[in-house]
Amino acid sequence: MSLVHRLTCACGQVTLIAEKAPIASVECYCSSCRAAGLRLQRLPGSRPVLGRHDGTRYVLQRKDRVRFAEGHERMKAFRLSPDAGSRRVVADCCHTPLFLEFKGGHWLSLYGGLWPTGTLPALQMRTMTGDLADPSVLPDDVPNLKRQSGPFFLALLKAWIAMGLRNPQIKVTGEINA
Ligand SMILES: [Zn+2]
Ligand SMILES: [Zn+2]
Repeated sequence: MSLVHRLTCACGQVTLIAEKAPIASVECYCSSCRAAGLRLQRLPGSRPVLGRHDGTRYVLQRKDRVRFAEGHERMKAFRLSPDAGSRRVVADCCHTPLFLEFKGGHWLSLYGGLWPTGTLPALQMRTMTGDLADPSVLPDDVPNLKRQSGPFFLALLKAWIAMGLRNPQIKVTGEINA
């Protein structure tokens, strides 16, 4: 697996470079990701965000291992509500969702749809499956975590320590409504 991934929006104007190993490769089933996915995939030109059983595929990457190579000014923030502590950042050229960022977080949850076919890091776990009406529909090929617990937090904590407990800021100007 290559350790430099060039990730572009659907129309090619926004390019992110993800370097070195990701923190984790997950699928989230929380109510917020499902609500946001529904709204984002309705934007004109957008491709499906939600997968089977309405999961959202993410690759968690240290912020200091993501470079914004092209089209940074096209990145717009989408919030589920005006006071939401997290934001999802979307390319306004073609409405490709780029990443989910938690306020104060040291990582980005990059949308799995950015990876070219066949290059997405293998799924390691599903998170927040307790938010599904019936989590038993999920396959059991990887751990299905009811919450964001145990292995998920441990991976994030290890990454943060390796970063020297820093929280790099990512500047996004402008908002997008969905
Ligand atoms: Zn685009
Ligand atoms: Zn989620």
